[in-house]
Amino acid sequence: KLIVFEGVEGCGKTTQMHLCSQWLRDLSVSFSLTCEPGGTELGTHLRQLLLENSEDKPISEITELLLYGADRAQHIEQELKPNLADGKYILCDRYTDSTIAYQGYGRGLSMSIINQLNYIATGGLESDLTIWLDIDVEVGLARKRDQATLDRIEQETIAFHRRVQQGYTELAATHPSRIFRVDGSLSKETVQQRIQEILNAHLLN
Ligand code: C5P
Ligand code: MG
Repeated sequence: KLIVFEGVEGCGKTTQMHLCSQWLRDLSVSFSLTCEPGGTELGTHLRQLLLENSEDKPISEITELLLYGADRAQHIEQELKPNLADGKYILCDRYTDSTIAYQGYGRGLSMSIINQLNYIATGGLESDLTIWLDIDVEVGLARKRDQATLDRIEQETIAFHRRVQQGYTELAATHPSRIFRVDGSLSKETVQQRIQEILNAHLLN
């Protein structure tokens, strides 16, 4: 089963995925942990190209979309399909909803193009369950700023990040049986408890 974690910058995906993997390990559940962009060797190069700050070398919006798509296509063939075939659970940091939220709502690219590209990259493979860690964009970005220098996307305007957030809000409303919202502003223990409740109720039983 494919379990995806989504949300705006600084929503706590990394922390929560780490806690979740400790929990699954204690339960002796077989799983793998991966991310987009960057879940394969090729993907780590694409991730670097996508996220480095190079004001002198701007990436066009369609190029950006295609690079995320290329990362995903490789990730699916090399990581997701083999692990799913082995019957494993997969915890994946970002998936197709990120493309809808960032390149669709954020950049304003055509949803029809994005949906076509997502289909080309995934062959129709959908997440079984998506955890959306919902946090105010300013709170999330402030967390990021405390940790490190901001990458190319994190440096986008607040208005961009708000559109991405709006994207997640609309996606969650459209797919209520797949996307589960968790309030990312709660303590990390509480957030993890909510995630475990959701996974127990919908997947692990
Ligand atoms: O979640 P993480 O910060 O590792 O994601 C990498 C970066 O790629 C993020 O800054 C995110 O905004 C960006 N991204 C994007 N479009 C996607 C997927 C990720 O802009 N489709
Ligand atoms: Mg980021």
